[in-house]
Amino acid sequence: MSNWSERLKQVCILSARLVLAIAFLFSGITKAVDPWGTAFKIQDYLIHFGLNQLVPFWLYPYMAMALAGLEFYVGLCLMWGIRRYFTALVSLAIMLVMTPLTLWLAIANPIADCGCFGDALVLSNWATFGKNVFLLLCVLLLWRGRRLATRFISENTQWLISVYGLLFVLLLMGHCMYHLPIADFRPYRIGNNITEQMEIPEGETAPEFDTRFVMEKDGKQQEFTLDNYPDSTWQFVDSYTVQTSEGYVPPVHDFILERVSDGEDITDQVLTDEGYTFLLVAYDLTKAQQGTVDLVNELYDYCNAYGYTFYGVTASGDEAIEQWRYDTGAAYDFCRMDAIPLKTMVRSNPGIVLLKEGTVINKWGSNDFPTEEYFRKPLEQTTLVDTDGSAPYGTLWKVVVFLLAVPLGLITLLDRVWTGLLLIGKLRKKSKISNLLKKKKMRKKIVAGNWKMNKNLQEGVALATELKEVLAADAPNCGVVIGTPFIHLATVAELLKDSVIAVSAENCANKEKGAYTGEVSAEMVKSTGAEYVILGHSERREYYNETPEILKEKVDLALANGLKVIFCIGESLAQREANEQEAVCKAELAGSVFHLTAEQWKNIVIAYEPIWAIGTGKTATAEQAEEIHAYIRSCVAEVYGAEAADDTTILYGGSCKASNAPELFAKADIDGGLIGGASLKAADFKGIIDAFK
Ligand code: PEP
Repeated sequence: MSNWSERLKQVCILSARLVLAIAFLFSGITKAVDPWGTAFKIQDYLIHFGLNQLVPFWLYPYMAMALAGLEFYVGLCLMWGIRRYFTALVSLAIMLVMTPLTLWLAIANPIADCGCFGDALVLSNWATFGKNVFLLLCVLLLWRGRRLATRFISENTQWLISVYGLLFVLLLMGHCMYHLPIADFRPYRIGNNITEQMEIPEGETAPEFDTRFVMEKDGKQQEFTLDNYPDSTWQFVDSYTVQTSEGYVPPVHDFILERVSDGEDITDQVLTDEGYTFLLVAYDLTKAQQGTVDLVNELYDYCNAYGYTFYGVTASGDEAIEQWRYDTGAAYDFCRMDAIPLKTMVRSNPGIVLLKEGTVINKWGSNDFPTEEYFRKPLEQTTLVDTDGSAPYGTLWKVVVFLLAVPLGLITLLDRVWTGLLLIGKLRKKSKISNLLKKKKMRKKIVAGNWKMNKNLQEGVALATELKEVLAADAPNCGVVIGTPFIHLATVAELLKDSVIAVSAENCANKEKGAYTGEVSAEMVKSTGAEYVILGHSERREYYNETPEILKEKVDLALANGLKVIFCIGESLAQREANEQEAVCKAELAGSVFHLTAEQWKNIVIAYEPIWAIGTGKTATAEQAEEIHAYIRSCVAEVYGAEAADDTTILYGGSCKASNAPELFAKADIDGGLIGGASLKAADFKGIIDAFK
């Protein structure tokens, strides 16, 4: 796919995700801010599906909180691009259920408002269906491209967004459940005038409504109208209003107060009263909390003392009212009103609404009823009438900005800065490592054998032949050298002429030529076809008293005759125990090779061989070896510069086998091995060579 269409795809997925995120967050918050409203809406749906009897009343608020919490959480995850599979799956499931449901709502019109966004945004049923079709398309797009959704926060920190978001929505719901919603989108919000909310604009006709009462007798529920309202053997369950003819429906269309004592409609009287009217609103007295009845009675006494009106308003039947009077000692008059406006007016059962000339002055949930300290002076002199709750979003926008957006924004910002710093660090480290690896790659890797004084000529030729064949069949990933006694050199060098194996002598004289019986000069070695010579081996230093000065002469002669030198250094056990390994190695280098020119240095291979590990079966650990190899390289760098040091091959020697070679050779400063015992069998030696594969 071209870059351009890939980009377009990404933009479409991001747009779909953000649209869904905003829709879910808005829907979740507007439900969370009014959990009782959401609970009533769920109840409405279940009544229409005939399922309400299966669900106990106490479960509704929990269902409302679960729905609001889920929508909010999905919105949050979509916004930040986290938990992509979960959110894509849940939003797909939600839209697959909601789209056909809202189509049914649009066609059958059993509920006027679907309640998707609580009371904050009321859409017609067809508009809701259209909205859901659009969101379903967004979800399908997101589902297909969920893996491409860019996350706005790192995986390690995403839990913070989840935990903070969930905590926020739980506390918000808890607060709005215990108190009243912190935002009021309903027509009865503080500051609204109910009479104005009931007005029908000029030229519009009023629709007609009918109230339906759900009543229960002997465990059986049945619906009634005002015309066939049953006798008192039926118990009131719920009531709702249905629109029976088209017309303009004002925000308040069912505020009708009918005094219970005489059946008189006192709606106008209450809405035009120039004094204060307290309404104790309890849509269902049988379910109303009685914990605050003493305060209610004190408030009623206060109203009598100061000349304010007080009514209890309920949709409950006479029996429930009588029971309430009996239980609470209520002496106030009751009015009856449909349950829906009562549930809408105040999200508490009971709640209190304070009116003046039809304007909602204040309202309280049962956990916040005014207490007796207010009842000592006229209302105007208290803070009960001093509110600024007229904005529909109330304090919600402040809560969303300061308790949600700002903290989550800060978490995201800190995460981005931290991730950025880590990334820079990682890139730096990566480039360091890749430089190091490049350097290590550039250096020649060598596995060199040192037969010592083993193998007669025939055995040596046989071993060299076998090795040649083995490596011809399976080419090595490193340079291979075999160090043989002098008598093998010419034959083996000839044998290996066209192979990948180079030949080395194990020694050469420190004299150029002449009367040195038994000695073999560097020139003679070179004349056999050998390429390398091993010098400074600890066995030669120890048994043949080769001093740094003698070795220096040998090195010079070897280089002068075109040989490459594998120069051995390393400490004894006593020196290691005295922690003198670095000093020993540095002194051996300084004594025999550090006088060379930079050009000559190119033909030097260093072999670090701790004497205590040679032929003993004890190997230096990879870490021990790496530490001293790095040190040796730093010594070379001091004399020849970092670049030459990076190019210098440093071998490890001392009980190196196929089993430990991979770990040793993997170290940054170990470039291969000088192998004694394990070079005497082709298979063993090949095993070590293969460590570079
Ligand atoms: C050696 O002599 O160089 C050597 C490393 O011997 P071995 O591998 O047997 O320890």
